[in-house]
Amino acid sequence: MTPLSDLIAGLISGQGPLTIADYMALALGHPQHGYYMKQVPFGEQGDFITAPEISQMFGELIGLWCADTWTRMGSPPEIALVELGPGRGTLMQDVLRAATALPAFADAVEVHFVETSPVLTGEQRARVPNATWHASVATLPEKPLLLIANEFFDALPIRQFQRTERGWHERCVTLIPQESGGYDFGLQLSPEALANTSMLPLGVLDAPQGAVAEICPAGEAIAETLGNHLARFGGAALTIDYGHGQSAPGDTLQAVRGHDYADPFADPGEADLTAHVDFASLAQAFAKGGAKVWPLTTQGAFLTMLGITERAKRLSAKANPAQARDIKSALERLTAPKEMGTLFKVLTITAPNMAAPAGFDAA
Ligand code: SAH
Repeated sequence: MTPLSDLIAGLISGQGPLTIADYMALALGHPQHGYYMKQVPFGEQGDFITAPEISQMFGELIGLWCADTWTRMGSPPEIALVELGPGRGTLMQDVLRAATALPAFADAVEVHFVETSPVLTGEQRARVPNATWHASVATLPEKPLLLIANEFFDALPIRQFQRTERGWHERCVTLIPQESGGYDFGLQLSPEALANTSMLPLGVLDAPQGAVAEICPAGEAIAETLGNHLARFGGAALTIDYGHGQSAPGDTLQAVRGHDYADPFADPGEADLTAHVDFASLAQAFAKGGAKVWPLTTQGAFLTMLGITERAKRLSAKANPAQARDIKSALERLTAPKEMGTLFKVLTITAPNMAAPAGFDAA
């Protein structure tokens, strides 16, 4: 049991079961004990590894995408380069290094980070000292933006509903007493079925009994705000995450600890909790805000289109044999279908009147 377990158990004893979203928000974001609030979770020593931590090629190619998109926008003299949930700041550091290839772009850019974790803000400041930090997307500057979100939306709290013969019931976290007198956390369905199912994705409504549907209200609210921002001030966004292109039933809540799967309801605050991103719902939210959503692509196809194979070749030409092996293995991890290449998707969003971004020229 963790300090956070006791706190959550106290809440449940006092006010009844918590929604999974409330549980997830506490487990990840509790100011003292939340998973992201007290440690740096990435890297070989941490619990998981993300694309920018696998290889500098990831951020560099995204940097070239940003510079290219800025050119397609007509090279505006000022642009906000925004990252949501920048982790250790590695991706932005690589983006900015690549951006120096187009000095006019590098001069036009001002960096904005949206981050809630003080520990990670410290890491980001060490790598990108001149950024401006925001607690939410609500305070982003009123100017054109180029926005990147890598493994951000999967960390936002989800709600789950399960179908029974009486309709869709919310899955809630409750206390299961142990024989020893302690407790475990477990799931319980809300007694009342949803009166109105309009919040559930259309694609799940005729799922059979027992099926689980997920929604991410926090992610949709952010996407709608950003869609509106892009429509008003111009710009483009890249959302990269693992997830599915069509809304489908399924329980995708998962916990990862020490590079292994763990029980999401054991030791809250000690494991990373994420859920698959439902890109269909996310795309709808961006569109609702007024932005244009381009067809979903896979991370493998996107990086290949941006030239990762050539980049790897060029880096390998200057590398020693051990480094060359690392580059080859990073290329494989980022793009191969059995690694991150297919599970991870890239959703591209732009202002409605903007020229097609790279990869969509013929669209
Ligand atoms: N993009 C990074 C880190 C991904 S982990 C990478 O690819 O390595 C998720 C990141 O989102 C962390 O930086 C975490 O602190 C941040 N985060 C999680 N919930 C957030 C929220 N509600 N608002 C802002 N940042 C959040």
